[in-house]
Amino acid sequence: MVVVMSPDATAEDVAHVVEKVEGVGGEAFVSKGVVRTIIGLVGDLESFHHLNLRTLKGVADVHRISDPYKLVSRQHHADRSTVWVGKEGKRVPIGPDTFTFLAGPCAVESAEQTLEAARMAQSAGATILRGGAYKPRTSPYAFQGLGVKGLEILADVSAATGLPVVTEVVDARDVPVVAEHADMLQIGTRNMANFGLLQAAGDAGKPVLLKRGMTATIEEWLMAAEYIAQRGNLDVVLCERGIRTFEPATRNTLDVSAVPVVQATSHLPIIIDPSHAAGRKDLVVPLSRAGIAVGADGVIVDVHPDPETALCDGPQALLGADLRELAQAVRRLPEAVGRAQAHDFVGRG
Ligand code: PEP
Ligand code: MN
Repeated sequence: MVVVMSPDATAEDVAHVVEKVEGVGGEAFVSKGVVRTIIGLVGDLESFHHLNLRTLKGVADVHRISDPYKLVSRQHHADRSTVWVGKEGKRVPIGPDTFTFLAGPCAVESAEQTLEAARMAQSAGATILRGGAYKPRTSPYAFQGLGVKGLEILADVSAATGLPVVTEVVDARDVPVVAEHADMLQIGTRNMANFGLLQAAGDAGKPVLLKRGMTATIEEWLMAAEYIAQRGNLDVVLCERGIRTFEPATRNTLDVSAVPVVQATSHLPIIIDPSHAAGRKDLVVPLSRAGIAVGADGVIVDVHPDPETALCDGPQALLGADLRELAQAVRRLPEAVGRAQAHDFVGRG
């Protein structure tokens, strides 16, 4: 941490900062410039935070140098992590060596629709099924999901297809029932900063898929992951699903640069969601190709057997020729960037 003194700070002001820092067991290295003095601090960051250094007389600014997150940082764990999803003996990896394809309906609407979507996903090469039983809708009048009934459908479809299931949890009170039925808990963009929910998900004993808040910086997103990690759960996969920008042509702007930025600073796996980023099915294939090329550890997309009747996000759901095109991309492109297919490693972790 570096404390920058204002040009008119006195020698007493500097001495006071040094005294405060040493008072909590830290070391302070004073460097006098022509105009300003800066003080480099070495020691426990938490105790420096409690000093409220910005409020001290003569202090112009305080800069942090190391990452604010710890457990999810590569400073804590240098090698990138692999998260295994599913039941003992059938776990699917999401990590740096493999490429994982996840697909399914936006929402679970019925047993038939979910099974059909799961079969479509599986034939396209997906190894993890997605599907929402609790839907975080912008409008309270929109379809809110089937709740526990939807979880039961997902569990049945998972048993029928052998695909592990990831599903969203929107309320901390539902974490136990979601964890009971699903293999992975999803925290959506709207709840990325719902810290109580993050902690509850961290306690659930299942891997967590943490989507990026649509207005969150990468640092805020990693701090949200830190909430889960702090509960002893490092099985967190990040998902870049687009951020709000001034561009209205897409629902959100897929921030492809987030993938290598996150990988440089955090050991957690990161996948992309081109369906929720674009909100348009015609962009799902090109954005998936971009995600694979930029080094994403996986892609998650919406599929639906009949998008016209979908109760949620029909315009972005793939089927037919579009899904076949995506299947080809996810089968061929990962090899070009040095990745194996996750399905070749199922059950090894
Ligand atoms: C979803 O995946 O169904 C979803 C609601 O995504 P997001 O939170 O990214 O909008
Ligand atoms: Mn959706």
